[in-house]
Amino acid sequence: MRNKAYCCEDIKETLTTKTEKGFHIHGFKRGEKRIYMLAYLACDLSNLQAALENAKTDLSPISQQAISNCPWCGSKLDRFYKNKLEIIQNKDLVSLLPQWFTQG
Ligand SMILES: [Zn+2]
Repeated sequence: MRNKAYCCEDIKETLTTKTEKGFHIHGFKRGEKRIYMLAYLACDLSNLQAALENAKTDLSPISQQAISNCPWCGSKLDRFYKNKLEIIQNKDLVSLLPQWFTQG
């Protein structure tokens, strides 16, 4: 396996903007299993509550989808991050997932 911290520069850059508007990748543990997510924030996380309260439609300011591969370089995320999940953890985004999903 390649001995570098991130699978690609794109994911590294995304991880520097963890709570800003845009696409994010994060991973967390559900029991012994590691789950990887692609998240899209339509606004900065600091504005999320206001966006939810002011929403005039049912458009969602945040969308999340479980994924297996890096959307930029195609690497298998679990092969790359299983022993260093902490570098792609994002507790803010995990807290926005339904409890039934995070606790399985
Ligand atoms: Zn990648």
